Amino acid sequence: MPERTPYVAANWKMHKTVAEAAAFVDALLPRIAATQHDVVLCPPYLALGEVVERSRGSAVRVAAQNMHEEAEGTFTGEVSAPMLNEVGVDAVILGHSERRQLFGETDEALARKLPAALAAGLEPILCVGESEEARDAGQTEAVLERQLQADLAGAEPGALAGIVVAYEPIWAIGTGRTATPAQAQEACAFVRDVLRERGLEADAIRVLYGGSVKPANAAELMAEADIDGALVGGASLDPEEFAAIVEAAG
Ligand code: PEP
Repeated sequence: MPERTPYVAANWKMHKTVAEAAAFVDALLPRIAATQHDVVLCPPYLALGEVVERSRGSAVRVAAQNMHEEAEGTFTGEVSAPMLNEVGVDAVILGHSERRQLFGETDEALARKLPAALAAGLEPILCVGESEEARDAGQTEAVLERQLQADLAGAEPGALAGIVVAYEPIWAIGTGRTATPAQAQEACAFVRDVLRERGLEADAIRVLYGGSVKPANAAELMAEADIDGALVGGASLDPEEFAAIVEAAG
């Protein structure tokens, strides 16, 4: 089975000005100087360039939190893959539950965004996850399967080797409620099974867990066989806490 390098990503959401992002990078880099893991910072668009410049030569890579599928056009307020390329961005979060719930992100749009990101050389971090109602109704796997099949539908299996998938149960995001390691492992293993059934080399794809990951629970979550890292929201805003999570990844 291929070795999967642990992958820890910081989703800052709508937090941090350019100056605050710069201060974070300066505080983080010495704390993770020895890491062999993939460390990814996802600042707001305006801070992307500053984070790229400031983290040059370090283990840090940089991701946007969203993008439009077209390269350019009459789409007020949107940002495209070539624009992200120009500032040196490496990756892009697609399908975060906040985009799906609050901003009308659809699986159909994601099926267009995913190939556009891959074609531009951006590593997609595709987020999937069930609501509390779906989990209570025993629908977790059905939701994950439906989202994955729909979101991956526009991309050739051969092009998808470089994707990262984040399993993020909606009921655990920003709530302080974390999935148990067993719940998270079960869902991440299921995600990997779906990827395998689609013809992907699933053992080489990083599957992350996200949902109230903190220094105190990170190690036990990421010790699970199918959890290759974490997508971290709230606890990623503090460089010391985020560095502790990076360290906990193994
Ligand atoms: C997220 O938004 O991707 C997330 C996991 O947030 P939090 O860690 O705050 O639950």
